[in-house]
Amino acid sequence: DQSVCAPLSVLGRDVTVPLVTGGEVTYAALDYAASAPALQRVWDDVAAYAPYYGSVHRGAGYLSQLSTDLFENARRTVAEFLDCRDGDQVVFTRSTTDSLNLLAAALPADCQVFVFETEHHASLLPWRDARVTYLDAPRTPEQAVATLETALAGRDPFGPALVCVTGASNVTGEIWPVRELAAAAHAHGARIVLDAAQLAPHHPVSVQELDVDWVAFSGHKLYAPFGSGVLAGRADWLTAAEPYLAGGGASRKVTRRTDGGVDVEWHETAARHEAGSPNVIGAYSIASACKALTEAGFDTLVARERYLIDVVRAGLAEVPEVRILSLFGDDAPRVGVLSFVVEGWNSSHFAAALSAEYGIGVRDGLFCAHPLVRALLGSEPQAQGECGAPEAAPGERSLNAIRVSFGAGTPDEHVERFVGAVK
Ligand code: PMP
Repeated sequence: DQSVCAPLSVLGRDVTVPLVTGGEVTYAALDYAASAPALQRVWDDVAAYAPYYGSVHRGAGYLSQLSTDLFENARRTVAEFLDCRDGDQVVFTRSTTDSLNLLAAALPADCQVFVFETEHHASLLPWRDARVTYLDAPRTPEQAVATLETALAGRDPFGPALVCVTGASNVTGEIWPVRELAAAAHAHGARIVLDAAQLAPHHPVSVQELDVDWVAFSGHKLYAPFGSGVLAGRADWLTAAEPYLAGGGASRKVTRRTDGGVDVEWHETAARHEAGSPNVIGAYSIASACKALTEAGFDTLVARERYLIDVVRAGLAEVPEVRILSLFGDDAPRVGVLSFVVEGWNSSHFAAALSAEYGIGVRDGLFCAHPLVRALLGSEPQAQGECGAPEAAPGERSLNAIRVSFGAGTPDEHVERFVGAVK
């Protein structure tokens, strides 16, 4: 029953778009994996806060103090949402990409990093200055754990090490065996960071149950607006590292030395990595989304998404030319993200037609995960545009794929229209 998700209603459901065939139709936003629409509740909370807008951590005025409280409370809300340990830090960043780059900048000297080639570029690329081992794409969750075990068994056992893994793939939607990978990492003295950009909007994420050391996610995929993200987890590496950005807010005390230089004492809290005036609205809106999801209950959302996934899968199964992309096979647990190719069709043309003729917004391309899409399609992605791909000529094998993704607020009609259009 789609009404069970009513507390999670989203903005933009009544936006109409023109069709090339004439007339207009309500827009079917089926690209949640890129950016989900904001929740009505988040929008209302931000609108209610707007008159009280003020700078944080700096002002003596009432509104500054109120904004500071909201900002710091947002940290606590996120810590609760992620079920963090006592002593974990919640750092507000710009996005998942920013969070993972921050952690990469905070790695201890000589850290080894282990990462599957199947990662999104945001979790694949920030580690290039470390000693990185790229692991081959596994074909089952068990193989993922075994591959990691083998790699870690061969590592230098005395130095620090970090495993980076995505909780749910932005290409296949498949959920990775995070708890098992975390256990393997810890058994070998390594730490683990979870890229929860796609998992957190669809599934509960408990730092303690999964036993991960850090989690990163983005507000704009979690039904909040753009421009804010989170890195949450263990304080020690973050506190030992140089600040991600140098500037006001990160520094506790700055003094001029007698030799003319400058000495700085940096904060040891999350503020260490949040120099500059922070994005208060961004943090506040993430917290609002976390509260809304918690109050509505993930059980409801997961059940609703499972139903929508089943409708899409059953519909696509009736089209023999459609091949759904998957690493772990049909039965793998997944979130509401699914990529496919249509034999004999150019994916870019197909996606353009879904938009122009049916008002459906999906995505085509390589989804910022070139090695993964290559493994899935068996083709060599070409260097052209970071997330895009060159178009195959009509009838040629696809060099890229089509992705459909959905979540809270997606009505039955959107996925039914999508299935009908593909057919
Ligand atoms: N990781 C995954 C799995 C993603 O899907 C994305 C966004 N597509 C990112 C990281 C990067 O998120 P952002 O663009 O918000 O930094």
